[in-house]
Amino acid sequence: MKEVTTQAVVLRTGHFREIDIWLKLLLPERGIETVFAFGGSRSRHRFPGCLDVLNTLECRLRTSGYGNYVTLEEARLISGPGDLRSNWSRMGLAANCLRFLEALDVPADSAREAFGLVEDLRRHLAESRTVSPLFPLFFRFAMACRLGYGPDLEHCSLCGRRLGDEPSFFQVSEGLMLCTGCAGKFPSSLLVKSAVRNLLCSVEYGAPETWGKARGYEERRACSALIDGFIQYHLGIVWDRGTFRKS
Ligand SMILES: [Zn+2]
Repeated sequence: MKEVTTQAVVLRTGHFREIDIWLKLLLPERGIETVFAFGGSRSRHRFPGCLDVLNTLECRLRTSGYGNYVTLEEARLISGPGDLRSNWSRMGLAANCLRFLEALDVPADSAREAFGLVEDLRRHLAESRTVSPLFPLFFRFAMACRLGYGPDLEHCSLCGRRLGDEPSFFQVSEGLMLCTGCAGKFPSSLLVKSAVRNLLCSVEYGAPETWGKARGYEERRACSALIDGFIQYHLGIVWDRGTFRKS
């Protein structure tokens, strides 16, 4: 038996048998792990009302003798979403982000960045006066950047020319950002105005509070096409019939 004490944020929970709970946790050292809390719905001593989605916990985990499953032995709440739980539309945005993370199956070497971004997400949804409807889309892009897939938005992927304030183009199937000169080689490229590129730059490494806002339908559509294409190309994840799946 091997035991560790670690922080974790709860991505999803479910019941099995009468009083037992399974949880998907994001651990900053290991990525996503499914664990079993035997007696989880009864024991207020070992799990004092803390086994809920979006909570950050301090956990004592034990790996079984054969290493084939992990049990949650004890947990205590470090921080949680507070009143956010009663805001169904914002909890819906959070759920969309968490489902994306599950589809992504965060690798261990990026887990700490992913953990930090989930805590940023919770804080932003709990505290901000307004939240953009594009928040889940921007979260996906920010997460891809935290995992090391961040595109160079400042330069043409082919010739290396600095893009400045001129319009640029994005080739979805190849994941390329292109200058006007190089875009001719890829007739199906999407036009990306500098305002949209600046918006994506704000999301690339900044905290959610500093992410820019899309103005109007055209900018929202451009962000959506670029980010969804980028995520599909680099991470192989698509939104399909109400769920994220590997393409
Ligand atoms: Zn170029």
